[in-house]
Amino acid sequence: MSGGLPADAPAVADAVLLTEEQLRARVAEIGRRITTDYAGRDLVLVTVLRGGVFFLADLCRSIDLPLRLDFMAVSAYEHEAPTGAVRITKDLDEDIEGASVLIVEDIIDTGLTLNYLLGVLRQRGPASLEVAILLDRDVRRIVDLPIAYRGFSIKDRYVVGYGLDIRGRYRNLRYVATVRDEVVG
Ligand code: 5GP
Repeated sequence: MSGGLPADAPAVADAVLLTEEQLRARVAEIGRRITTDYAGRDLVLVTVLRGGVFFLADLCRSIDLPLRLDFMAVSAYEHEAPTGAVRITKDLDEDIEGASVLIVEDIIDTGLTLNYLLGVLRQRGPASLEVAILLDRDVRRIVDLPIAYRGFSIKDRYVVGYGLDIRGRYRNLRYVATVRDEVVG
C-alpha cells in the first residue's frame, strides 16, 4: 500500500507515506529499546495532547516496564512571533521530581514547542529528561534538540493520520499520509 492510496482514503490525502505495518514494526522496535534503556528506573511517559496519543498508546504497550503516563495540553499564543512559548492549558498530574521522564511526541518540525516544554519540565527536577519522536522533519528546524528515539525522518510535506490532523480531522487514519498541496495552502 505504501505510495498508493487505499480505496477509502480521504480526499485530502495524496499518498500513503507510512503504512500501518511500518508504523507497528518501528514502534515495537523503539519500545524494546526503551525497555532495555529504562530498566530499573521510574519511567514517566509524558505526551502532549492530542496528536501524540496514538503513538503513545502503541509505544507504551511495547514497553515491558511498570511505567506511568501523564499528559499536557498547550495552546499557542496567537498574533506573536513564533518563539515556541505556549500556554499550558492542562498541566501534568504526576510529580516528576526524581523520575525518568520521556516526552512522547508525534512530530517535530521547528522544534520550538518541544524546546519550550523541555525547559518547563527541566525546572521540576526530573532525574532525566529525553524525547521520543515518531516523525522528524528537520527542514524547518530552528532549535536543534537531542532526540533519544526517532521513528522516521520525513521530507517537507504536511502529513495526517496516526494522531496527526488537518483542521482537527483524520487523526484516526491507521496510516500516515501526505496531504495534497492545495489542501494545506
Ligand atoms: P514545532 O514547534 O516543532 O514547529 O511544531 C510541532 C507541532 O506542529 C506538532 O506537534 C504538530 O502539532 C504540528 N505539526 C507540524 N507538522 C505537522 C504536520 O505535517 N502535520 C500535522 N498534522 N501537524 C504538524
